[in-house]
Amino acid sequence: MPDIVKILPADVSNKIAAGEVVQRPSSVLKELLENSIDAKSSKITIIIKNAGKNLIQVIDDGQGMSKNDMHSSFIKHATSKINNIDDIFSINSMGFRGEALAAISSVSMIEMSSSKINENDGYYIEINGGDIISEKELNINEGTSIKVQNLFFNVPARRNFLKSDFVELKHIINVFNNIAISHNEIEFTFINNDEEIFYLKKESLKKRIISIFGEKIRENLIPIDEDTQIANLHGFILKPEFAKKSRSNQYIFVNNRSVKSQFINHSIFSSFDGLLRDGYYPGYFLFINIDPSKIDVNVHPNKTEIKFDDDQNLYSIINSAVKHCLGIYQVSPVLDFEKDPSMDISYSQVKSDPKIPSVEIDSDFNPFQIFNDEKLGDLFSEKSTENIESDFENTVKEFTKIFQIFNKFIVSASTSSLIIINQNLAHQRILYEGFLKSMFESSTDSQKLVFPIQINLSKQQLSMFNKIDSEFKSLGFQFELEENLLKITSVPNQLKNNSVEEIIDDILDNDNDFNESNSLSHSDFFAKALSKSSSIKSGEKLNPNEQEFLVNQLFSCKEPNLSPYNKQIFITLSKSDIENIF
Ligand code: ADP
Ligand code: MG
Repeated sequence: MPDIVKILPADVSNKIAAGEVVQRPSSVLKELLENSIDAKSSKITIIIKNAGKNLIQVIDDGQGMSKNDMHSSFIKHATSKINNIDDIFSINSMGFRGEALAAISSVSMIEMSSSKINENDGYYIEINGGDIISEKELNINEGTSIKVQNLFFNVPARRNFLKSDFVELKHIINVFNNIAISHNEIEFTFINNDEEIFYLKKESLKKRIISIFGEKIRENLIPIDEDTQIANLHGFILKPEFAKKSRSNQYIFVNNRSVKSQFINHSIFSSFDGLLRDGYYPGYFLFINIDPSKIDVNVHPNKTEIKFDDDQNLYSIINSAVKHCLGIYQVSPVLDFEKDPSMDISYSQVKSDPKIPSVEIDSDFNPFQIFNDEKLGDLFSEKSTENIESDFENTVKEFTKIFQIFNKFIVSASTSSLIIINQNLAHQRILYEGFLKSMFESSTDSQKLVFPIQINLSKQQLSMFNKIDSEFKSLGFQFELEENLLKITSVPNQLKNNSVEEIIDDILDNDNDFNESNSLSHSDFFAKALSKSSSIKSGEKLNPNEQEFLVNQLFSCKEPNLSPYNKQIFITLSKSDIENIF
């Protein structure tokens, strides 16, 4: 029998490795930007077409490469940044694995030109799927330009896997934001589909954050500055009023490298205890400087995961530093750190008189009474799901008592079972089906506003908005756009009692959902996002009519079991389930 184990040819193994380093256009951008930074550039221009699917180009004025360097830069494990294994532990540069260019070039078409400082002659190389197809002398300015076109052109499965332009552009802007915030000493220009989205000159960290996120963030920035033996912290924490329903404003940098860390997020979140509404997350731009030998950044090839040797101490340092800075700026009711933490009361309770806890039940309420409360009609638009038949209808009719507990759940009992419904998820489902229906049937009911809502969009919000404006229209939004001022003149009926500004802000800024979304289309994605941000939240008290209405609407939905994001909406306990508990 012939031997069957063989070493993969370099082009195949590079393509496989490429999957680790290059997941999507934004990962290419990240690698190219990190290389430009490592090359000590002071000006970087980024040019993107079709959310990076067709073009990602990075032009820098850094130290450049020689012709030979350019040739070897595409070879796997070719790097100028470390020489031996010890260097890994004292690494200061952003890249060091020497994998990125090899990986990117194996799955795209690259044109690279470069010229070294103080050397007049530059060089140009064109590479297709890892092979050099042309090269020549080229007179260019000092620095490097790398143009990555048609990403995954030779791996169709991966190319098809890319999400909509809207989603991919979000990832790209997220990468850009992280780099631009942590490199305020560099001038950046960002051009998307021939339009300049950012021009950021060299500026202070505070100004950089304002240039990116817009003037409205200015007065919400609370500086944080803490020196300890374990780590130094600096940056800004955002006031609780600026908290968002997503984690999109959470930026953590360790030794100036953007990282993700659940435990740091948790540490900061718990410092905000009692200051945030349910379902809201704090924002921050936190820079942690720590001895590089006390961390490991090499846990994953895309280098965003990080491990700390001393994470417990770091947790408490961050936690108290954030409390401290919230305290100094008087946003927190807790100023005394020596105080017994079990005595802490939440902010919302400080202002109100204590109440005896109660479960509200309206014993006179008759669930079979025909619903005709006008105010309620405003809150839930009944029309959208009016005619949908459902198996659950009979079940609902059986319910005799409906009440709310913890301002979060609707509980209902029938003769044979008890059902506990998550009000927020239920309402998401109801709205989601309603939105989809309006979009597909173009049967939107919209409400003209007496006073148009005016929203100043930041440049990045504007480019996101341009990608979903037709979905906005199909839902019943009417608007005019004057430069970056969005004037909304009509809103869909379902939304007329909501803070439309907050919802739009939320949709345009939200990152987490985009990562998780497996949506088939823009419309579906948009309906999900909109239903999530405009739904009744946990913590909202509902009157008995509203509770009843929510239950009825839910069970008229096509899929009452799962929220648009696939979370379980309710649980049922049968009589025997309950008996078994005892
Ligand atoms: P790494 O950054 O891990 O060393 P890369 O594959 O990203 O590996 O890059 C390989 C090498 O190419 C780098 O070590 C560097 O010497 C060179 N290089 C890449 N991009 C640039 C650039 N923009 N300017 C100067 N040199 C660069
Ligand atoms: Mg690199």
